[in-house]
Amino acid sequence: MPLIVVTGLPTSGKSTRARQLHDYLAERIAAGDPSRYRLHLISDDSLSISRAVYDLSTSAVPAHVRSANASEKDARAALYAAVKRVLSDRDFVVLDGLNYIKGWRYQLHCEAKAVRTPNCVLQIGCSVDRARQVNEERLRQRQRQQRQPGAEGPQGEHVVPEGETLEAYEPANWDNLVFRYEEPNPMARWDSPLFTLIWDDDTARTRKTFGDLWDALAGDGRPVVRPNQ
Ligand code: ADP
Repeated sequence: MPLIVVTGLPTSGKSTRARQLHDYLAERIAAGDPSRYRLHLISDDSLSISRAVYDLSTSAVPAHVRSANASEKDARAALYAAVKRVLSDRDFVVLDGLNYIKGWRYQLHCEAKAVRTPNCVLQIGCSVDRARQVNEERLRQRQRQQRQPGAEGPQGEHVVPEGETLEAYEPANWDNLVFRYEEPNPMARWDSPLFTLIWDDDTARTRKTFGDLWDALAGDGRPVVRPNQ
């Protein structure tokens, strides 16, 4: 079944939306024939990939790592292997991550075609300023935790919801990723169909988008995928 590539700026709400999509798909699968599909959510967090692998500054490279660029390539290889291991005509795979390089999205599209399953892109739209605020807040929380492990934030501050990690990007790494981000293009076959959710989309709007995504990929009119197309 389909591969859904989630993409967006760093700390723009991708994991939040990916978890919502995962829950929605689980519901749809359970409402039909549950033995027909399996569902997987793959992300940097599920593979324990640190945000530091995206940091190209040489000072960020730990002693045992070949180079900053090599560590990102290794991370992509791990994600690719994880997708390849499960992707089939019976598996829904939600790939939550930056997925910011168009060549990488093309590679994933080819992988889906090779197993004759459709793919789509879910873009998480969020302003640069808001995404930056989220990262800055995470950096502040991380600092507080390092100073006083177990300490609660002051009342009224944004608290990280249960189940979420405190993975923040170093500010230069964050800026660099925003600069390098290659927006999906709905005219490119590897980025289409392209679905978009924005930060302010409420539950009804979000479910409508997820419903459209389901119809496009698993509904009656879902495309027949041929490897040589
Ligand atoms: P990313 O996966 O892009 O790093 P996350 O999904 O982890 O981003 O979200 C970052 C923070 O923003 C989290 O604390 C999350 O609860 C909050 N958040 C994400 N999306 C929304 C939204 N649409 N509305 C309100 N808060 C959100």
